[in-house]
This record gives sequence, structure tokens and C-alpha cells, in this order.
Amino acid sequence: MTRFYVDECPSNRTTCEVCKEKISRGEIRILHDEYMGKNLYYHLMCYTPKRKRFLKEKYFKILLSPGIKPLFLSWMNEWNSFYLPENIHSNVPSNISRAINTPASKIKRIYLEVFKFFSISEIINCLSLVCKDFYSTIWEPELWRCLYTRDFETPSIIPEDWKNAYLQEYITHCFHCKKKPEDFKKYECQLLKRVFCTSCLKNEKYKLLSESQVKNKYNVSLKNISKYIGNFPNDKVVIYNFLVVRAINKYRKQNKENILNKLIKTLGQTHQIVSIIDNINTNEMDINLVGILAPNYDCDIVKESYRAIFRIIRTGKREVKFSDLLSMIRKDFK
Ligand SMILES: [Zn+2]
Ligand SMILES: [Zn+2]
Repeated sequence: MTRFYVDECPSNRTTCEVCKEKISRGEIRILHDEYMGKNLYYHLMCYTPKRKRFLKEKYFKILLSPGIKPLFLSWMNEWNSFYLPENIHSNVPSNISRAINTPASKIKRIYLEVFKFFSISEIINCLSLVCKDFYSTIWEPELWRCLYTRDFETPSIIPEDWKNAYLQEYITHCFHCKKKPEDFKKYECQLLKRVFCTSCLKNEKYKLLSESQVKNKYNVSLKNISKYIGNFPNDKVVIYNFLVVRAINKYRKQNKENILNKLIKTLGQTHQIVSIIDNINTNEMDINLVGILAPNYDCDIVKESYRAIFRIIRTGKREVKFSDLLSMIRKDFK
């Protein structure tokens, strides 16, 4: 139902609502039948649409002669130059325009752009757990297409299901070097359910250790670090070195946090020992060792209390009581 008419004023009898002047015959006039039986008239140049939005021809009933109509259209164009058409995407396919017009997927697009910079395990194990939106983003075929082209050679046939195709490739590529091993140089690891090149498998990281070997090498019992190992089947008698290292690093980080919290509680945040312990890099506690249980001699702090705490963090073993540790600290840091 059009309630706005545009015509050429047929008489001199109507008055413009804005300037209150008579509208002369032949002038372009806007007629608005706002009330039943009562029409409002405007000079075109006096008229301001109430709604500040993009105008379309179909909003008006245009009763102008072909020679006059362009004048009205140019007025409309000028008005429209301040507004974006609602259907700006009308000439792109509807599924795409829907995708870029809905706010949720606009945000998802941004997520996709960011996700592409993460490794597959970071995406699955970390990002997907952050929130619902992140989780649903990992199901986007577009993400998997991007990851596929990032990580593997472009496929000769476009896969129907990019996620599936990605996973197919993923499990046939070497766990270590990420390349696809030739069949005769391939080792399929039943423990990790992944493939290795036989040459990559020689890396120290993939050495299988028994429980006692772990104990001898790192002076940590496998039992203590088992909760940091993750999905590795724990009924197995051997474990990969890299999994042990990863778990030990997490274990030591936790030990450090525990002892630090205790020290802060009793000695305060500003005590010297707090910042010294805080500076210990738990990922590198094995590097400078002389014997298995030797403290970090490379450090210029050779105080007894420091060594004791270092050992606690490294092995998880409480060799000294906390109260004794405190008196050692008080002796060392007078
Ligand atoms: Zn007027
Ligand atoms: Zn490899």
C-alpha cells in the first residue's frame, strides 16, 4: 500500500506543510495521505523522509511524466548517498550474502582467519574448548579447507568433506616431520595411532623408556607424572621419551607453583627467595646436571635452601620439612 505519491501539482490550491507556501501548478509535489481523508503536501525540496534510510522507487507511487521523473530520481539519489542500501549484497549468491550479513558469521569469519595460525592440536585441544562459538567454528568446512591447503599439497580432486579429507591426510603424514613417508620407509605406531618415517623414529624423542629407565633418567617416578601424560595408554610398560619430558615439565611447573605459593604465604611476595625461585625455568632443569641429583651448579646461588627447593621442584620429593626449609632460608637470606 503506497501512501506516498509524487505528482506534478495540477493546480495552485495546495499548501506545503513545511514552508506553508502554495505549491505552484506543474511543480513536483509529494503527497502523503497520512490520515484518512487528510492529505499532506510538500514541495519536493521541502520534503524530508521521516525514516533515515535508503529509499527505493517502490516506496513511492510516481505519477510523473517521463521528462520530469529524472528530477525526482536525482533528488532520491542525493538522499540515498547518505545511506547504505539494505540489499547491498543482492547481486551475490544468497547463501554468501546470508553468510556475510548475519553478525554471528561475521564474527566466525574473524575466528577462521585467526584459527588458521594455530596448529591442529591447538585448535582441537585448546581453542575448541574456549566457548560455544569457537567450538562451532571448528566444524566450518572453510576452516578445514584452509588448514588442508596450509598443511598438505592441494588435492587433485576437490573433496566433498574437507574435515574428513584433512584427517585422512593427517594420519598418513609423519608425526615428526609432517611429511608423507614412502611406504617402505613408513612405521605405523600402534601406541600413538600415527605414522612415522623410519628415519624420524630414530630421534631421541621417540625412544621408548621403561618405568625404571624413566626413574634413572629423570629421577621422577612415572606414577607421579601419569596424570600429565594425557591419552597415552597407561597399561603399557613403555612410554615415549617425548611424552615423559612433556609430562615432567608440567609436573615441575606444578611443583614450582605449589612451593612458591607456600613461600609467598609465609615469607611474603617481596622476599628475595620468592623472586629467585620464580626465575627457575622448569623446562630446563635437567640441562646442566652433573649427576642425577646434582643441583644447578651453573647458578651463582649455591645456598643450601635454594638447592633444597630446586630438588623439590625437580623431583617432587620432600626431603626436608617445610619448617626446616624456612629456617634454612632465614639462615641464607639474613
Ligand atoms: Zn515548501
Ligand atoms: Zn618424518
